[in-house]
Amino acid sequence: MNRSTDTAALVLGDQLDPAGAAIAGGAGALLMIESAAMCRGRHKRNVAFTISAMRHFRDEQRARGRDVHYYEWSPDLLSGLRRFVADSGVEKLRVMRPLNYRGSAFVDALGQRLGIGVELLDNDQLMCPRAEFDRWLKAHKAPSIDAFYRMMRRTRGVLMENGRPAGGRWNFDRENYTPPALVASPPPAPVVEDDGLTRGVIAEVNLRFPDSFGELDRLGLPVDRRGALAWERAFVADRLAGYGPYENLMLSGHPVLYRSRTAELLNAGLLRPEECVAMAEQAYDDRRVPLPSAEGYIRRIMGWREYVAGMYAALGPGLKRFNYFNAKRRLPAFFHDEGLTRMNCVRHAIASARRHGYASHVARLMVLGNFALMAGIDPAAFYRWSLEAFDDACDWAGAPNAICLALYADGGLVGRKPYAASAAFINARSDYCRNCHYSPHEKTTWNACPYNFLYWSFMEEEERPLSRSCQMTVPHRALERMSPGEREACVRKAAEFLEAIEKGGERRETPALR
Ligand code: SF4
Repeated sequence: MNRSTDTAALVLGDQLDPAGAAIAGGAGALLMIESAAMCRGRHKRNVAFTISAMRHFRDEQRARGRDVHYYEWSPDLLSGLRRFVADSGVEKLRVMRPLNYRGSAFVDALGQRLGIGVELLDNDQLMCPRAEFDRWLKAHKAPSIDAFYRMMRRTRGVLMENGRPAGGRWNFDRENYTPPALVASPPPAPVVEDDGLTRGVIAEVNLRFPDSFGELDRLGLPVDRRGALAWERAFVADRLAGYGPYENLMLSGHPVLYRSRTAELLNAGLLRPEECVAMAEQAYDDRRVPLPSAEGYIRRIMGWREYVAGMYAALGPGLKRFNYFNAKRRLPAFFHDEGLTRMNCVRHAIASARRHGYASHVARLMVLGNFALMAGIDPAAFYRWSLEAFDDACDWAGAPNAICLALYADGGLVGRKPYAASAAFINARSDYCRNCHYSPHEKTTWNACPYNFLYWSFMEEEERPLSRSCQMTVPHRALERMSPGEREACVRKAAEFLEAIEKGGERRETPALR
């Protein structure tokens, strides 16, 4: 046994940062374990990305002379660790605390389970460390994303000019709206050529997980740090300027548009959030991108991403059981086969998830989440689906986004209001409605859009609990203006529709999208 194996640093599949606490801080060997158990119930692309990125990391570190102990397709993490301890006689493991609940509990018990010393290091993958977030949360009676984001901008000096926010405002959402008709020629989705290692992993994943959700013929994503940095630089140079105006736009056949698609890379540790923020801010300082685009992108990373991570940690595992509306409906079959629905927006979002492991934030929240919220889908079932549907899925980001923000199952602890919206929202921000079987302008007729009667039925049924939320005042006033007959018709239509989808889908003959 090599002397360096007295101590080893455990490198998990979402901690692939060579400057990470467990790796950079000490000498000794690195230990990497592929866990087959963790790959089950995940999108095939998610699995291929993680395994390929781990193997690239292994090869890079070996090329730098680091001793890397690597176990392919261990049944699970613990059996891989036990095998390593037996093989190497290691005495101590350095471990960085994972961000997710299960991983965090797992490493807490690791020393005892393995019978060796474990040095547990604080997680360093976020811009706002856990202790700082907890202090901030304690100091705020009514915490909000806006207040948190301002604190982050102030304390990190990002987009600040003479102690004031650049441009005189913290948020430029008002400027960030372009109607679909004004999009001239959307840029092609970014893609990188898969190398031989990735192609081999794709073949293995298709063989090992044939029944997992999603298609996997090529990955097209960077799988190492150099590739991830090049990807981010290309985004800043080519697409960040359009990020703001097109951020909330959904266009058939163009799921990415001007978005960065860096969540996978950030979540795996291939990119650090502070370097993405710095690149965007520099582009604004150099007048290469307008302020609303730079601010919108920085808010997504330094605001939303950090806020949901902090709230996830603060709320604890009970978050997974939140169910404010007591929603119990099963997930409709069309979430796994978009050909079973005629709702064009839903078909596009699910097809994109299946094909690309991706849907934009607005599609996840305002098409899929919005539907699940108004249809009364069980939040845990919706969350399980979103974990297997996207290749950037991870518990600490996915659970608060799906359960708290999209389904309001926390009753407003993370977000301020339920993101319920009728077809008018989707029609204003997409080109989906013009090619849909349903009409976005109808509420109760034969071709009425389900988002309309579900919306008004949801408002009717949840009127009392929601009236406590001041941000729902406007729809409640609109509800009061509707005639009793119209209100009743919406509730009846919603009940009929929900019964139909319980039985398998409102239509069966619609072809799946490619
Ligand atoms: Fe979606 Fe309704 Fe628009 Fe069809 S009409 S695309 S179901 S919002």
